[in-house]
Amino acid sequence: MAVRRDSAVGEQSPDGTKKTAKAAHPAPVERTSGVAKKATAPTKRASATSKKAAPAKKAAHAATKAPAKKAAVTKKAAVAKKAAPVKSTTKKAAPTEAPAVTPGRNESRTALVRRARRINRELAEIYPYAHPELDFENPFQLVLATVLSAQTTDLRVNQTTPTLFAKYPTPEDLAAANPEEVEEILRPCGFFRAKTKSVIGLSKALRDDFGGEVPGRLEDLVKLPGVGRKTAFVVLGNAFGRPGITVDTHFQRLVRRWQWTDEKEPDKIEAAIGLLFPKSDWTDLSHHVIWHGRRICHARKPACGACPIAPLCPAYGEGETDPEKAKKLLKYEKGGFPGQRLKPPQAYLDAGGLPAPPLGAPVPSASAADQA
Ligand code: SF4
Repeated sequence: MAVRRDSAVGEQSPDGTKKTAKAAHPAPVERTSGVAKKATAPTKRASATSKKAAPAKKAAHAATKAPAKKAAVTKKAAVAKKAAPVKSTTKKAAPTEAPAVTPGRNESRTALVRRARRINRELAEIYPYAHPELDFENPFQLVLATVLSAQTTDLRVNQTTPTLFAKYPTPEDLAAANPEEVEEILRPCGFFRAKTKSVIGLSKALRDDFGGEVPGRLEDLVKLPGVGRKTAFVVLGNAFGRPGITVDTHFQRLVRRWQWTDEKEPDKIEAAIGLLFPKSDWTDLSHHVIWHGRRICHARKPACGACPIAPLCPAYGEGETDPEKAKKLLKYEKGGFPGQRLKPPQAYLDAGGLPAPPLGAPVPSASAADQA
């Protein structure tokens, strides 16, 4: 994955030296179909709110320091200003009341909204095939898979559920199941006794209270055993097309790194982030953020040097900034490895993504995956 550098966008100190926080920010990035490309010119945090606006700011700044070039620079600034994406950032302004949101340092509320939405737009380009990473074919399968995904990977759930779904295709089937047989099936998911209780209890509730159908309303879903708001929003967003923000561990970590909010409770994070985006963006936003957390912005070693949104990130430098070392930290399709779904959507396969191996099968190496 080649890295293209774009020095035209970053911002420098008057003396031309890098402005640094933890480390110098790279400039915004151009990308093709693979992992995004990264540039090296340093970028000031506040300037990252608009890729197109940055040159204007830089030009205006240069004008004050170099009067001889004032006319030319002013002209350049005016052109850049004209090109700034005013419509896209102001059209859907977030609600003005947002007590739960703490803007990034030296960042206005408006700048935060613009930066947050720009990050989401960039992520949409990086992961145009983003989707829920649990295999499912109907709402019942999705709610079961989501409950099973607690404390384990989606990959492990996807490797386990084919047997479960084949043997117990409906809530009535699973409600009447022998718990010991279900435990055997769920053993690879970990916490298999507790999870067996959950899925059988959930199936009984669906059978007895909802006519054997998964309800499509938040207030009903959260009444089901083992279903909290996070699970409910996954189901609403992906099985019913109703917008929801999924605040999982990746989402929590990334929105804090991006200084979108300082809230720590999932419900408060959900409310705070919901004010930054139109409701129609919520489900895709959740996928984008979670995908980025799984592939690039890892908990312990974020791959900052290979991160396409580094210029927009106040936490740039928290992870590896060397581009070559950072590339080795990339996961799933960004690192040339299989994904988590055994049956991924066609768009993922079309983009070069690989299906996950079934339970017990060896995971192909990066080099093998690259050749596939
Ligand atoms: S990897 Fe994470 S912390 Fe590093 S620049 Fe990207 S988003 Fe920021």
